[in-house]
Amino acid sequence: MAFIKINRDNFYHNLNQIALKTGSKDKVAIVLKDNAYGHGLKLMAQLASDFGIKEAVVRDTKEANQIKSLFKRVLILGDKIVKDDKCSYAINSLSAIKDAQDGSRVELKVDTGMHRNGIAIDELDDALNLVVAKKLELVGVMTHYRSADEIGSELFWQQKNFEMVKQRVKNRGYQDVRFHSYNSATILRVDEFDEDLVRVGIGAYGYNELPSIFDRVELKPVLSLYAKKISTRHLKEGERVGYGGDFVAPRDMTISTYDLGYGDGWSRADSNKPFIIAEKLPILGRVSMDFISLECDKDEVCIMSDAKDAANQLETISYELTTSLHSDIERELL
Ligand SMILES: *Cc1c(COP(=O)(O)O)cnc(C)c1O
Repeated sequence: MAFIKINRDNFYHNLNQIALKTGSKDKVAIVLKDNAYGHGLKLMAQLASDFGIKEAVVRDTKEANQIKSLFKRVLILGDKIVKDDKCSYAINSLSAIKDAQDGSRVELKVDTGMHRNGIAIDELDDALNLVVAKKLELVGVMTHYRSADEIGSELFWQQKNFEMVKQRVKNRGYQDVRFHSYNSATILRVDEFDEDLVRVGIGAYGYNELPSIFDRVELKPVLSLYAKKISTRHLKEGERVGYGGDFVAPRDMTISTYDLGYGDGWSRADSNKPFIIAEKLPILGRVSMDFISLECDKDEVCIMSDAKDAANQLETISYELTTSLHSDIERELL
């Protein structure tokens, strides 16, 4: 089966770059949602913990339970709010507060302009009253930015809204809650960091999705994807390869079949615009469920070593390519 190599040094390099910006490892929360963006939940959690990261962010309780012993606190972004000794839960709506188990630990998400999750700014007082009534422990107040990775002033407009929220929360007498709004793009583009935590996902995995005018922090891709050879054959000029016979051999050639396909979460893409793998070879013809063909006879071949380059070819973003890789592909540590 295809396999993934995880480069520990590159991961630590990226975490270090982020920690230099925040001023402390203690202010870095590693986002491990969706199988650590496809890198492998438990492996990346262990590495982050070994590096000294104490805070993690996941999608749901199921993910949290697999890694929470490694961290001081785990923030769960979207699940039913229950009492837990380690986890805090993002509040995504007023009704979520009403449904929360008494005594749960929560972080109030405020919608400062993205309009995806969180309570509206004008619901802030109601939300805080409900939190008190339900005897919830408010440990954080957070927001998320819709355009942190785009040129323009939208980020600053949302930041201003969040500053207002912070002031109102403090005015209600909350002194110890942590405030956090930064994702990777935000921490990579700004010079001053004055919050309690950054929630860093894609940057830790080595990708900077900011336009190049912001590209100042060097990051290194953590994941590379390999496939193994299944069989080799010799083609005569004019013979065709794979479903539909889309690839026609322009000359006599030697090709091999490798064990990666869309069944592993690799993109089926468009055989008219063949994907060029990391080793500079085009995929020949259509991607099958479990196989691709290449003009190559190496036992192992590197398909992707930089998901951002690959994403440019496939007209998507690095996030989608790594996150799509199935969890049963073996992850090996370099
Ligand atoms: C996924 C996510 C992040 C991390 O975003 P990156 O762009 O990968 O750094 C941060 N906060 C929230 C709420 C998220 O959902």
